[in-house]
Formats: sequence, C-alpha cells, structure tokens
Amino acid sequence: QCVAVCPTGALTEVDHTNAVIRALADPTKTVVVQTAPAVRAALGEEFGMEPGTLVTGKLAAALRRLGFNYVFDTDFAADLTIMEEGTELLDRLTRHLNGDKDVPLPILTSCCPGWVSFFEHQFPEMRDIPSTARSPQQMFGAIAKTYFADKINVKREDLVVVSIMPCLAKKFECQRDEFATNGNPDVDFSISTRELAHLIKQSNIEFNALPDEDFDNPLGESTGAAVIFGTTGGVIEAAVRTAYEVHTGKKLEKVDFEELRGMEYIREATIDFNGLPIRIGIAHGLGNARKLLQDIKDGKSEFHAIEIMACPGGCIGGGGQPLHHGDSSIIKARQKALYQEDTNKTIRKSHENPYIIQLYEEFLGKPLSEKSHHLLHTHYFDKSKEIKVVE
Ligand code: SF4
Repeated sequence: QCVAVCPTGALTEVDHTNAVIRALADPTKTVVVQTAPAVRAALGEEFGMEPGTLVTGKLAAALRRLGFNYVFDTDFAADLTIMEEGTELLDRLTRHLNGDKDVPLPILTSCCPGWVSFFEHQFPEMRDIPSTARSPQQMFGAIAKTYFADKINVKREDLVVVSIMPCLAKKFECQRDEFATNGNPDVDFSISTRELAHLIKQSNIEFNALPDEDFDNPLGESTGAAVIFGTTGGVIEAAVRTAYEVHTGKKLEKVDFEELRGMEYIREATIDFNGLPIRIGIAHGLGNARKLLQDIKDGKSEFHAIEIMACPGGCIGGGGQPLHHGDSSIIKARQKALYQEDTNKTIRKSHENPYIIQLYEEFLGKPLSEKSHHLLHTHYFDKSKEIKVVE
C-alpha cells in the first residue's frame, strides 16, 4: 500500500493541547515551554493586531499565566545551533581547502523537519551533505532534559518540555526515535501558534491587556541572529555572522547582510571572508530546493553552503501560523518584524550570547565536542522505500 505523506507534516497533524493542559495540572511535573522565533511575529494577528506586530513580551506573559513553570525561548537554542552548524561549516571548508576532496560540500542547513523529511524520501543518497546539527527545537529539548534538569534538581521523567511552533512538521519531529532517551522524548509536546491562541482564549486571558514580560533564564536569553531564524535567509545570515568572526578573527563592522535577504524563491550571494569568497545559496519551498539539490547531484553546484526551508517565506509562513491565505504582504510584514527585533537587540551574534558561553564552559566543552555530538547532532535515514512523498 502506498501512503502519501505531506512533507511539512500537515497530514499527520495532531493537536497536543489537551496533553499540555494535563501536564500543567499535574503537581508532580515541572513544565517548561520554548517558543520559536516566528511565533512572536504572527500570534498578535489572532487577537486582532496588524500583521507584523511583535508580541514577544505579551507572549512570555501569556505563557506564564497559563501556568508554565519556566518560560524559555527557542531562540536560545537557535544561537546554540549556530555554534554547532557554523563550526561544522568551517570544519568542512578548512578540510576542503586543505585538499580533502571527500569532504561533502556544500553544507545544507538542517533545522527544518519538512525539508529533512523531503531529502530522506527523495534524495536519500545525499544524506551525508546536510549539517548533522539538530533543529533548535530538539537542541532545546536535549539541553533542558540534561543541563537544566540537573540545575533545578528535577528528574528527566518529571520534566515536561512543550514547544510553541509555527510548524506542523515539528510535531512529528518530536516523535522521531533518535530524539528520545529510553522512550522519554526530548520534547514531549509541540503545539502550533494557532493552537496556542486558542488555548489563551479558552483560558480567558486578555492577551491584548497583558504587560510585556521577559523570558526566564538561562534558556531564555538570545541574540538578534537567533530571531531571524524565522525568515528565509535568516539561518544562513546568523551562521555567516559567527563563521566570519571565528574564521577571520576580526569583528564584523556591519552585521546586516542585505544580500542574503529578500523573498525570491532561489537566491545566491558571495560573502568575502577576508579574501576567501564564500558562495551561499538560499531556497524556500520544496520545489525550489529540488532544483538546487539536482544541481548538486549533477556536480554543477558551486555553493559552499545552502539554506533550505520548506515553507514559502520560511517559518513565518509555516502551516501552524495564523492563516494568511497566500497574501504575501502578511508574510513580508512578519519578516520585517523579525528584522526589527534583530536590530533592537543589544547582542546580535550567537557566539556572544553570555548564556551560550556559560553552557559551553559548564557543560558542553566546545562546539562539536563528544557531548555536543551526543546531545546536539543527529543522523539521517534512507526512507525512499517506506512511503511516497508528494510535494
Ligand atoms: Fe516548519 Fe519552518 Fe520548515 Fe515550515 S519552514 S516546515 S514552519 S521548520
């Protein structure tokens, strides 16, 4: 029997809201929540606000009113992703420049589970090319259930991790076997932006009247680089900010890479790493990703790194966001909001996040260390024979 599966997970959508409510009501559980960057740029639309209204502070306040014990930010883990993925990029590049022709380039980003599912089904022979870095959602879960659980002296099985995501594919990402320890998942439940809005309304919380509040620490601090993960081009821009400074040893005079921004479905740019030209590709939408992958397969690709996101616009246009009915002005307004939040941040490069520095000092050692590999990296499978994916 041939089963068609939507690569972004829409056909496997399961609402975990009731499970989250049960966890919040269970006095034996400590419940932590993480919220993805794109959520803050769209949630306000569910409460009558203009597209592009940033509601970061109200979002943190609402999650606290709902009863979460710790209100954290997936952006923290986006900074962590950059530390691992950026180091992997530089490692592969250095080996390539030193003449190792076996090193797989370009490196492809791996934070979008819709995209991961796509290449596992459609291009499994190329599964050593994407970065092995887990998505920010899963990095967060792994760190919450080890480092943070130890800090607050709570057993792994008594800690429940909930994610608020713009995405339906994140739901099935949580259920992948490789993201669990002895059957206990790193992220227990994922609910979408729309499902969160429903929960807030159901709980009679006056969202529009809430004060702006901050996230908790240590897993709530983030940089401008992490915020732009929510838009097409943002992950690779964040990686470039860190990889440039680590590779050249120089401070960037300007952290905005306008040449990586925009909404064209396939974009390319060359960034000068102090005399070393780094060629970057960007695609959003799986049909566009297919074109870049085919070029790699045919030996025609000249990129060093490629960012791919399954949804048009990236996560701001994700399937769990408030419905936009294909209105590109709404996507653009959300994108503008994320760039604004980036500009407003005091720290805008992932490697300067003080809590990330502390995490490496206290726990992980350094990027790509043995512990980092164990907790923050993954591997991919050939799923071409299991089921047929439709685009
Ligand atoms: Fe999910 Fe973002 Fe990928 Fe869309 S682009 S499938 S919202 S991770």
